[in-house]
Amino acid sequence: MLSGKGKGPPSSKQEGKRQRKCDFGCREGGYVLAKRDEETENRLAQVIKAEPIKMPSEEFQAHNAAHYRYYVTFPGFDRRWDCFLAYDSIEVDEERIRHALSEYEEKEKEEEKKNSGMFDNDPNKGMDEKAIQAHINATKVKNISRIVIGDNMTPAWYYSPYPEPYYNLETLYICEYCLSYFACREEQVRHSYKCQMYHPPGDEIYRCDQLSMFEVNSSYERIYCENLCLMTKLFLDHKNLFNETDIFLFYVLTEYVDGAYHFVGYYSKQKESAEGYNLNCIFVLPFYQRKGYGKFLISFSFELSLIEGKLGTPEVPLSDLGFLSYLSWWSQRLVELLQKCDREEISIDEISKETAIKLSDVVMVLERLNILRYHQGQHVIFAENGYLQNLYKLAGHPPLVVKRSCLHWTPYILPGSNKVAAATPATNNHSSLSS
Ligand SMILES: [Zn+2]
Repeated sequence: MLSGKGKGPPSSKQEGKRQRKCDFGCREGGYVLAKRDEETENRLAQVIKAEPIKMPSEEFQAHNAAHYRYYVTFPGFDRRWDCFLAYDSIEVDEERIRHALSEYEEKEKEEEKKNSGMFDNDPNKGMDEKAIQAHINATKVKNISRIVIGDNMTPAWYYSPYPEPYYNLETLYICEYCLSYFACREEQVRHSYKCQMYHPPGDEIYRCDQLSMFEVNSSYERIYCENLCLMTKLFLDHKNLFNETDIFLFYVLTEYVDGAYHFVGYYSKQKESAEGYNLNCIFVLPFYQRKGYGKFLISFSFELSLIEGKLGTPEVPLSDLGFLSYLSWWSQRLVELLQKCDREEISIDEISKETAIKLSDVVMVLERLNILRYHQGQHVIFAENGYLQNLYKLAGHPPLVVKRSCLHWTPYILPGSNKVAAATPATNNHSSLSS
């Protein structure tokens, strides 16, 4: 039994034997207790990697756990909380770990039961065991600790496959206009004198107060879109982000301040989706989160679907934060519609058409909110005003409104496609509001 943290990570010879016997302790695969960020109490953690702080001798390696730092993950929590911890920050008390482990397993079972039959947001959807394991092995340790973009610095959350020599850095510097990346501050400053961009490439299709949206076609702006995906990967544990980048359009949100359009976030959308996806990936920079921009991007995606005359749904899996934003947005959108509805009866089909939300998503959300109920042998929509008002409040901050009058857009038509675009209030596809 290895119950104290005084033993260092085992050598490769020892590892196999020890790991099978016992899962506790400061070594790769072992369970320990540690604090997440600024929490006051230790919780269950698992050591993913033990890395020597300096090159140790053989003897030193066997006996000095304090000379390693430990990359840990917190079971039940998103991988963005994974981090390196010093030996002093880790506790190994086998009894407490066993207790924490069984609590975690119980909670997992409950969650599984609760979510069965709900919106299918399986993070490993479409992947077999081998692919899942390959993804975990390739991405288990973050390679960049933080980024500096514009005037902001923010810790990175996940691994991203930046090329050498940018692959393994404490700080990566990114130009907020062209998204080029640099290994040191001086390079970024030199670039800023040469960079000609002060807004994303592509067409400005929306402008309202200081907010603008740009439509970027990845076929014309390949480097920008690749840089965008690399940066996104630092904050999104999205496995298929780099698959065929040029099949997407990117809708980039900016804030206009001091004569420049500062990057806030974006969503991508397949140029043509057989599955009816109106959004494939959504991302807002961490320091712009909690300002309603995530829900603004969702609203925008459905506004475009309404113009196209199509129903839309996001591609799954969504990140945990993305899923919460969607649940909140869907709830508020549907409650709002029911509150404004002055008819005695409205069908699910009509709700779907008026909001552009896919029928099955409407049903899932209404059931989740307990608005769709089974009464006297049939489904009815329960839309009592006080109940709706309460639901709207519980769903969080209302989304920032997308003003249709500020949107100038014509649906993209894939070259060679016979489809005719729906009527729109807009100008041509390449009109630009940017001056
Ligand atoms: Zn630049």
